[in-house]
Amino acid sequence: MSSRSAGRTQVDHLIVGAGFAGLAAAIKLDEAAERDFVVIEKDSDVGGTWHINTYPGAECDVPSQLYSYSFALNPDWSKVYSPQQEIWEYTRKVAEDSGTLDRFVFDTAVLDATWDDEAQRWVVRTEGPAGVQEYAARTLIAGAGGLSEPRLPEIEGIETFQGEIFHSARWNHDVDLTGKRVAVIGTGASAVQLVPELQKVVGHMDVYQRTPNWIIPRNERSFTTLEKTVFKRVPGAQRALRALVYGTLESRVPAFAKFPQAMRAVEMQGRKNIARGITDPELRKLVTPTYRAGCKRILISNKWYPALDADNVDLVTDPIAKITGNAIVTADGVERPIDVLVVATGFYVTEPPIARHITGRDAVTLADLWDESGMAAYKGTTFHGFPNLFQIVGPNTALGHSSMIFIIESQVKYVVEAAKAMRREGLAAVEPTQAAQDAWTAEIRRRMKPTVWQTGGCASWYLDKFGNNTTLWPGQTFTFRQHLRTFDLDKYDVEVSHQREAVNA
Ligand code: NAP
Repeated sequence: MSSRSAGRTQVDHLIVGAGFAGLAAAIKLDEAAERDFVVIEKDSDVGGTWHINTYPGAECDVPSQLYSYSFALNPDWSKVYSPQQEIWEYTRKVAEDSGTLDRFVFDTAVLDATWDDEAQRWVVRTEGPAGVQEYAARTLIAGAGGLSEPRLPEIEGIETFQGEIFHSARWNHDVDLTGKRVAVIGTGASAVQLVPELQKVVGHMDVYQRTPNWIIPRNERSFTTLEKTVFKRVPGAQRALRALVYGTLESRVPAFAKFPQAMRAVEMQGRKNIARGITDPELRKLVTPTYRAGCKRILISNKWYPALDADNVDLVTDPIAKITGNAIVTADGVERPIDVLVVATGFYVTEPPIARHITGRDAVTLADLWDESGMAAYKGTTFHGFPNLFQIVGPNTALGHSSMIFIIESQVKYVVEAAKAMRREGLAAVEPTQAAQDAWTAEIRRRMKPTVWQTGGCASWYLDKFGNNTTLWPGQTFTFRQHLRTFDLDKYDVEVSHQREAVNA
C-alpha cells in the first residue's frame, strides 16, 4: 500500500479524474489485485462531466442501456435517454458498491506530472485542502476527459460585460433567469438541450448561431414498471436489449466512415424535423445546414426547433462583432441588450490544457509535441517519450455514434493488462516504440480520409489546426476493442528497475 518517503507519497498507480474513466480504472485495478492506487479528482465527488454539467435539460444522447458499465447494469433507468442527475447518481452508487472510494482524493487538482528517469516514477504535484502534495507513482493513468476544460469565446469586450456570464458546463444556479433578457452563444449539443428549458422562463432570449447543426428527432420515452421488472428479474433480458442498441448504433458506422453519401437519409430526417418544429420559412432556411450530416456531431432533439420558433426567442446569425457592458453587437451594427450571457461554446478538445502539465523524458511536455504535429498516441492510450503514461479517452478514441463507456472499458482492460505484465516481467517502465506509434497514427490517418468528418465540408472540433481528425475512432468499436484486448509488450521499449540492476550488479 502507499507509503511516504522524502515527503512524497509512493503509490503504484495514480489515476487523474473520477469520471467514468477514472472510476472504471480504479475498480478494474482493484479487481486485479493492483490495489495501491490513488484517484485525484478536482471536483467534490465522482461522476466527472455528469457531476459538473448541471445546466437545465442536461441529458445523455446515447441510450441509457448502453451508456452504463457492462459490469454494472442498471435496471432502474427511468427513460431511454437518462437525465444528468440520474447518471451521476448511478456513478456514485457504482463507486460506493466497489469499495474503492477510500482511495479517492476530492477537491484536489493535479498541478503537474513529471517523469523522473532516475526513480522511474511519475512525480505528481497536487493541490487541495491539505495544500500541495507530492506523489511518486509507477504509472500515471490520465482519465481527465476530453470535454472537461470549457472554452470561452474570444470576443472583443467580453471581459467588460457587467451582467451575469457563465459557461454551460459551469452553470450558475444562483442566477434566476425568470423574465430576464438572456443571450446564448453557441448551438451545439449543450445549447440544444438548455435553450428549450430557458425559453420556458426567460423574458426574451437571443440565440447566436455560427453554424447550424443537423438535428434529428429524439425517440424519447419512459421505461414502464413492467419493463424495469423484466430487466431486474429475467436473466439476460437487459443484456439482450443492450446488445440490440449496440448493434443498431454500430450499423451506422459505414455511413460515417466509408459512404458519407448514405448520410442523405439523416438529412431527410433533419429536414422533416425542421419542418415539424418551425413555421417561418425564413427561419427554416437559417437553421438548415449546408454540409453533409455527420460531419459535425448529429444532434437529437424534439424541442430545439419549437423553442427557436417561440415568440420570445430570436435566432441571430450575423457574426458577433463585440460585447459591451450590457449588450451584444453584431457585425451589421445591431445592438441587443441583455441581462445574462450564457456561453455554450464547447471545450478545448484538440489542445487539452492538461497536456501542458505532463512532462515526459527530455523535459518535453505533451503539449510541446502536440503543438508541432497534433495529438497522437499508440492505440489511443500510450505515448512514446512518456513511459508508463496511460490516457483513457486519448487521441482518436472518441465516438460520434455510440457510447464512450465501451471505449473506456476497452482501454481500462489494456491498462490493467499492462500493469499485470509489468509486475509479471519485473518491468519498471514501458513505452511504445516510435515505430509502433507512427504506424498506428499513419493507419488512423489513412482510414480517416474517406470519412464524413474529413470530407463533409464543415469545420468541427474533431479536427485540429492541421486539419487532421485526432479525436475520433474511424471505425467499429469492436475493432478498437480487438486491438486492445491484450497488452502487446513487443511494441514497447521496456526497462527493468534501476534499483534491481544496481542490486544485481
Ligand atoms: P460544441 O459542440 O463544441 O458547440 C459549441 C458551439 O459554440 C457551436 O455551435 C460553435 O459554433 C459555437 N461557438 C464556439 N465559439 C464561438 C464563437 N466565438 N462565436 C460564436 N459561436 C461560437 O460544444 P457543446 O455543445 O458543449 O458540446 C460539446 C460536446 O459535448 C458534444 O459534441 C458532445 O460530444 C458532448 N455533449 C454531449 C451531450 C450528451 O447529450 N451526451 C450533451 C452536451 C454535450 P460552430 O459550430 O460554428 O463552431
